[in-house]
Amino acid sequence: MSNRHKKINPREKMPLLRVQNLSKFYGQTLGCHEVNFELDKGEVIGIVGESGSGKSTLLKCLAGKIPPTNGSVFFNSDQGFLDLCHTEEAVLRKIMRSQTGFVTQNSVEGLRMNISAGGNIGERLLANGMRNYSQIRKIAEGWLETVEIDSARMDDLPTTFSGGMQQRLQIAANLVTDPKIILMDEPTSGLDVSVQAKLIDVLKKLVNSLNLSMILVTHDLAVARLLSHRLHVMKDGKIVESGLSDQILDDPREPYTQLLVSSILKP
Ligand code: ADP
Ligand code: MG
Repeated sequence: MSNRHKKINPREKMPLLRVQNLSKFYGQTLGCHEVNFELDKGEVIGIVGESGSGKSTLLKCLAGKIPPTNGSVFFNSDQGFLDLCHTEEAVLRKIMRSQTGFVTQNSVEGLRMNISAGGNIGERLLANGMRNYSQIRKIAEGWLETVEIDSARMDDLPTTFSGGMQQRLQIAANLVTDPKIILMDEPTSGLDVSVQAKLIDVLKKLVNSLNLSMILVTHDLAVARLLSHRLHVMKDGKIVESGLSDQILDDPREPYTQLLVSSILKP
């Protein structure tokens, strides 16, 4: 077939993620309201805003962890450009265990504390059908090294790890299946500043070497700036300002963002 007649796969032109009119109410309480944005492959988007502004709600809806009240989350998956809000449970589970990753602030939620570090990484491979024990072990070892954990710690329980190591383990356990997108909810919060710096450094290296597509929820504007190409600022469940990270933080347009930036940059 000549080039002229070669079919272009229309899905290649689609964004990786398209969030459309997404709203979530918990009874009468607003979680997030009419959120719209897109993310392309290789992009890191930061979602920032004060506590209670709806960041985690939005992220959980994107991850398929909670159903939104309204709207759609289209994901360019191996199974097609699917609306995850209206995808059959079995297909959704399959996508979530291989094509998307979710890292939480609290490693107790994101890791299995009663199985070894290597086991935590191997679990997703097992769930995807890999059965060769020595191969799984080898891959897990490689991932521990990638997130800068000594592979000699492979058989240790995560409970024996520091907070920063637990977060890096969580990241390895999510990236092992080479997901198309990784969602992170306050991954650096609750860590000491020097430990945060190490985690950010590891994340930055991963973003560059793996061309990761990521949504990073954080209330910490400095963390958001270090890792994100673009930012969405949330207030009362809505995105109130969007743009390139440097542009938003150096020259915020919305009074709310101005307040947020000035309150954080004040000594
Ligand atoms: P953030 O992550 O920005 O701190 P959240 O998404 O956690 O914000 O919360 C947004 C709003 O939704 C808040 O008013 C919060 O109290 C409410 N909310 C979050 N989770 C629940 C829940 N499970 N049940 C009821 N209200 C909730
Ligand atoms: Mg939150």
